[in-house]
Amino acid sequence: MKVRIERQALAMIIASSIEHFAKETVGMLYGIRGSNSFMINHTYPHSNAYRTEYSVLYERNGRNRVNGYFGRFLDVDLIGGFHSHTYFSQQNMSLVISKEDKKEMCKKPSNIELILCIKEFEKNKAKEFVKNTIGGYVIGQNSKYKFNAGVFYTDVTNKGEKKIYHTKRAQLKLI
Ligand SMILES: [Zn+2]
Repeated sequence: MKVRIERQALAMIIASSIEHFAKETVGMLYGIRGSNSFMINHTYPHSNAYRTEYSVLYERNGRNRVNGYFGRFLDVDLIGGFHSHTYFSQQNMSLVISKEDKKEMCKKPSNIELILCIKEFEKNKAKEFVKNTIGGYVIGQNSKYKFNAGVFYTDVTNKGEKKIYHTKRAQLKLI
């Protein structure tokens, strides 16, 4: 599974993660769904959400209203969601998907979830960059923040009557 993201779409996710740091951010991904690929053109961070440093819940009615508007105004499809995981300078940053994240994703197995790990340093870093990695992540550094973005999707297989869900990581590429 390949997922491409436009620079301004990723910039919105990073900006929202910095704004709410150390609490988490949450929002929606819009774009184009292919047979084995996704293209993320637009992102919308929720302003109305219940946030902590370990979880974030959006307000469903507001989400539905925005979704209806966005789809018609920009002629794009809702293809998934995003949220951040936050870290402080002394912590190791690792992009892992939580049990709760997996549970949420299995409710909508045709969608993708982008997770942005973001770490705050005490002082500004001189070097600023954003780049793709060979392993299919987008990493970067800006002012006091370092980030690592990855995407997950849910594969569904049928074993008799039973559906089995597997959460896998997709290859993310900034274009
Ligand atoms: Zn999470």
